[in-house]
Amino acid sequence: MPDHITLYSRNAWVENSFQPVSLVIEDGLIIGLEEKPRSTSTDFGEYIMMPGVIDAHVHINEPGRTEWEGFNSATRAAAAGGITSIVDMPLNSSPVTTTVAALKEKMNASTGQLHVNVGFYGGLIPANVNDIDSLLLSGILGIKCFLTHSGIDEFPNVTEQDLEASMPLISQYGLPLLAHCELSDQLKHSDLSNEPSSYLQYLRSRPDDWEVKAVAMMIDLATKHNCRLHIVHVSSQHSLHLISDAKTKTKIISAETCPHYLFFEAETIPDKQTVYKCAPPIRTHENNLQLKLALKDSILDLLSSDHSPAPPSIKELDSGDLMKAWGGIAGLQFLLPASWTSLKNYFSLEEFIPLLTSRPATLLGLEQNIGHLKEGLAADITVWEPQKKIIVNEEEIFHRHKPTPYIGRELHGEVISTYVNGNLVYNNKQVINLNKGKWLLKK
Ligand SMILES: [Zn+2]
Repeated sequence: MPDHITLYSRNAWVENSFQPVSLVIEDGLIIGLEEKPRSTSTDFGEYIMMPGVIDAHVHINEPGRTEWEGFNSATRAAAAGGITSIVDMPLNSSPVTTTVAALKEKMNASTGQLHVNVGFYGGLIPANVNDIDSLLLSGILGIKCFLTHSGIDEFPNVTEQDLEASMPLISQYGLPLLAHCELSDQLKHSDLSNEPSSYLQYLRSRPDDWEVKAVAMMIDLATKHNCRLHIVHVSSQHSLHLISDAKTKTKIISAETCPHYLFFEAETIPDKQTVYKCAPPIRTHENNLQLKLALKDSILDLLSSDHSPAPPSIKELDSGDLMKAWGGIAGLQFLLPASWTSLKNYFSLEEFIPLLTSRPATLLGLEQNIGHLKEGLAADITVWEPQKKIIVNEEEIFHRHKPTPYIGRELHGEVISTYVNGNLVYNNKQVINLNKGKWLLKK
C-alpha cells in the first residue's frame, strides 16, 4: 500500500480561489498540491473540496452531563456535517472547565472518542478571576465568560469588577476572551411568567438592549485593557454599529453569529416549540437580514453552531414551557448547510467559505495548522455539493438527542465526504474510521 493518498477536485478551495488541485496527503498532513490527478487519485470531479469546517462554539457536556451530549455523539455529528474541528465550551460538563484539573478530566473523558479534532475553552468565573494564569497556559484556545446567568449554577457570571481584575491578566497571554453578551434586568424577565409558552413573550423577555449594553461594556473593557475580545452569538442588529465602530479603532475585537439567527425568524416560530429556545433569542426577519449584511461587511467575522442540546425532559418538549426549558439549539450537524442556505442569496461561495474555515482558524490562533488547504497543514478536508437540496431527516441525525428545529427543513448543501488528519471519516452517509481526531491545544 502506498504511504500517501491523493484527492482531486476541479473545484478545490486553495489560496482564496477555486482551482483544479490534487492534494497529496501523508501522515495526516497535506504534503503537496498538484495540478492534475494521479491515476490513483480519488476524483471528486466538480464537488467543492475545501478545508474542513471549524466550529469554534460547541457545548459538549461530558464528563458529568454526558446524557445531554457526549464526545462520541457530538464528534460523529460533526464528521457527518463536514466539520473537522470543534471547540468545546467550559460550562456544561461537571466539573466545569475553570481549573487545569478540570481540563485534564475533560481531556481524559474525550480519549478514544475524538472522531474529529477537539479543542477546549477554559471558563472565567468569580472564583478564578485572580487565579487564571495556569489555566491560560494549559493549552486552552480561549477563555469564556457570561455576563448573565449561564444556566449552570456552577458557572456563575462575572461582573464588571471581575473583568477589571482579570482582563489585564488575560491580555498578557494573547488568548481571546469570549463573552456571552447579555446584561439582564429582572423587571423585563418577569413578563414571561404570565405566558410561558408564548415565543413572542420569550423574545420580549430578553430584549435587544440587554445585548447592546453588554456589547458596549465589553468593547470598553477590552479597549481599556488591550485584551482580545470575541463576542459570541451576536443576535441583535442594534449591536452591530458598536462592533463596527470598535473595529475601525482596534484589531482586538471579533464577533460571530450562528445559523439559527439567520435561518429562523421570530414571526414564524410557533408557541410551545421549545426546540427554538436559545439565549439570546432568535429575533425578527428584519433583524436577521441585518446580521447577514453584517457578515457580508465583515462586521461579524464568522459562523458557529453554538450547539447546546439537552435531554427532551429538560428541554420541556411536552410542556412547551419556554420559561423552564433549557435554552440551547441542537444544530452542530447542520452548521454548513444551514449557514449556506441562509446566505446563498447574499454571498458567493468565495465569500462564504472563509466564514467557516480560515476565519475561525485565525480566532483560535491555529491558522498554521488548520483552516487552509496548504502544504504542511492538517489534511482536514470537506467535500460537498452546495446545490444539492436535502430534507433534514431524524434518522440521519447523529446528535445524542434528535430534537432540533431543523427537522423537516429543506437545506442546500450536501456533505459528500469528510477527512480528518488524512483519514476518510464520513462517506456514503456513514461515519467510519473512528477516533482519528486529535486534541487542538495551544502550544
Ligand atoms: Zn454557547
